[in-house]
Amino acid sequence: MSTYRQPVLGILGGGQLARMLALAAAPLGVKTVVVDSVADACAGQVAPLVQADWNDHEALAAFAARVDVITFDFENVPAEAAERLAADVAVYPNPAALAVAQDRLSEKTLFNACGIATPAFQPVDDREGLDRALAAVGAPAILKTRRLGYDGKGQFRLRTLADADAAWAALGAQAAEHGLILEAFVPFERELSVLAVRGRDGEFRTWPLTGNSHTDGVLSLSLAPAPSIDDLQQRATALARTLAERLDYVGVFALELFVKDGQLLGNEMAPRVHNSGHWTIEGAHTSQFENHVRAVLGMPLGDTGVRGGSVMFNWIGELPAAAPVLDTPDAHWHDYGKQPRPGRKVGHATVCAPDAATLAERVATIARALGREAQAEPALRALRDL
Ligand code: AMP
Repeated sequence: MSTYRQPVLGILGGGQLARMLALAAAPLGVKTVVVDSVADACAGQVAPLVQADWNDHEALAAFAARVDVITFDFENVPAEAAERLAADVAVYPNPAALAVAQDRLSEKTLFNACGIATPAFQPVDDREGLDRALAAVGAPAILKTRRLGYDGKGQFRLRTLADADAAWAALGAQAAEHGLILEAFVPFERELSVLAVRGRDGEFRTWPLTGNSHTDGVLSLSLAPAPSIDDLQQRATALARTLAERLDYVGVFALELFVKDGQLLGNEMAPRVHNSGHWTIEGAHTSQFENHVRAVLGMPLGDTGVRGGSVMFNWIGELPAAAPVLDTPDAHWHDYGKQPRPGRKVGHATVCAPDAATLAERVATIARALGREAQAEPALRALRDL
């Protein structure tokens, strides 16, 4: 009798995404090991954790020797570290795809090359460059760091050309290290994300489009499937497929899109499972986490169809009371096991229902009980308009 050896998936980064990947991997018989620079990273509560910095070559080589495939919960792992690991073990998505998504300038340049329209943008290297970029892009605009910005961090909004000095005072010091990009501010009608998965064999699937609301640049609420999308699903899927094929991407990714006058504009790509796809854990036949594990290990992909409608509340800073969610049918509580801290993503809840009216009623009941009416409002408005 041959011995049974379980596949081992290594995950770079030990946050809530790694935690949910590890939880999805277990029923597939896949073991997980995570690497993080901090000892109390929350994925360490559900999977073995190796504490190491990204530049600790020895520790990362020892980690690579323990695993069959490596993936990411964190897209800002230095591309050199990912490439070094890829010399010894399969790394998905490939380090080149990761590198493109780490830099807003190369990302938007690639979008345009793939036929994905974007807000007008210009690189900014110095103070005079900001004036040149403003002349080209116009105001209002947003100055962003090219690298290491996320959740609205490393951004400055310019209402008029007169805000250039203030923008430079806020971000100019980061120009040399991270680079800057100026983008036209888009007064979009809605924000959508398309979550997609591509297998090692090139098989490609998307989940239904998700409608997203942000507060201070951080995702606050998602509604899926996004209502009234007409032909947007087909168009967004085609854009995501082109991007995935161009990058020879393997695994799950999210393409964040603005909708303006019926046009889709690419904002950014997350080369990993994404917060706007958390609803798929309970709301879809196969979650983004399970399909990512399947994709990177070369298993067949699962059905991305939905069971009904879902609304996801993000819990930022601290958790509200769990009881109103636990008391509601088909509502699901997720506590990431993280210490509360302003701006930190500490959990989420997903509310599911077979139809829009029941979904709206469940969401409204929970929002009232938690005093979260303002957070729920975009979903309730969209569901009411159906
Ligand atoms: P980002 O970190 O680029 O995803 O930006 C965070 C949020 O800021 C986005 O989800 C949008 O709500 C908003 N935002 C970013 N870029 C733009 C833009 N060019 N025009 C309008 N809003 C933007």
